[in-house]
Amino acid sequence: MDLGLANRTALVTAASRGWGRAVARRLACEGATVAICARGEDSLRAAATEIGAETGRSVLSVLADVSDPADVESLVERVLAELGRIDLLVVNAGGPPPGQFLDLSPSDWESASRLTLMSAVRLCYAVIPSMRRQGVGSILAITSVSVKQPLRNLVLSNSLRMAVVGLVKTLATELAPCGIRVNSICPGWTRTDRVGKLLRDRAQRNDTTVEEEAAAAAQDIPLGRMGTPDEFANAAAFLLSPAASYITGVCLLVDGGLYRGAS
Ligand code: NAD
Repeated sequence: MDLGLANRTALVTAASRGWGRAVARRLACEGATVAICARGEDSLRAAATEIGAETGRSVLSVLADVSDPADVESLVERVLAELGRIDLLVVNAGGPPPGQFLDLSPSDWESASRLTLMSAVRLCYAVIPSMRRQGVGSILAITSVSVKQPLRNLVLSNSLRMAVVGLVKTLATELAPCGIRVNSICPGWTRTDRVGKLLRDRAQRNDTTVEEEAAAAAQDIPLGRMGTPDEFANAAAFLLSPAASYITGVCLLVDGGLYRGAS
């Protein structure tokens, strides 16, 4: 299927590794012009160079911490100045720290809120005005299966991602008349650096090994394994694309069947 992404312009945040990188690469493969950001200069530059070499598209890389309001503003200004427009916005950030409620403090909640919720809010404030002027746009927030059912030992992620889904569903209604679709994608276990860290944390808490924790997580997944970043990126590219032109306000699970609920 032609996704109709050729010559669209995309901004994918937090994209030097993991899902962000996989989505940026997939969009570039489809012929989109892509800008990416992350906090680490070397890994960001390496990701842009590798995606460019693999897809034949040049990739704009901008150093930015999405939890920093000034960085979000200058990121969007720079992308608009250099690429002229943003048709597709992928809202992504690193994950908040693991932990149970009583392990964490209110200041952990405040910094996690800046990272997970306020980054999404600020990116939307920065990008939506130009999408409204264009009369077209597609926004995709990367959340988690935890918005359907909380995950163990992840109270910050479980709570703040639900707020992001509230934002997505509200914006989908408010922005539909302007030609802007807003969706969320809710991945389950995907073997990225983030998951490596979570498995190490579980192994330490439970006095097990990382491989035992990985096998235990996979046991709960009907498809019997964790997903790959590319499998996730395929679904993300579809939702972002004009091929999904009648889809807005959805939270699409990409979790190998992990979530068993009916809605
Ligand atoms: P990852 O750790 O592999 O990659 C995270 C990326 O975000 C990196 O490029 C990093 O440089 C960048 N980043 C981190 N903090 C940033 C910041 N403040 N500003 C800009 N860039 C920043 O993570 P991932 O597995 O790709 O996950 C992406 C998101 O999805 C995370 O929020 C994670 O918690 C969440 N998630 C992951 C899984 C999974 O199975 N991998 C499951 C559910 C939710």
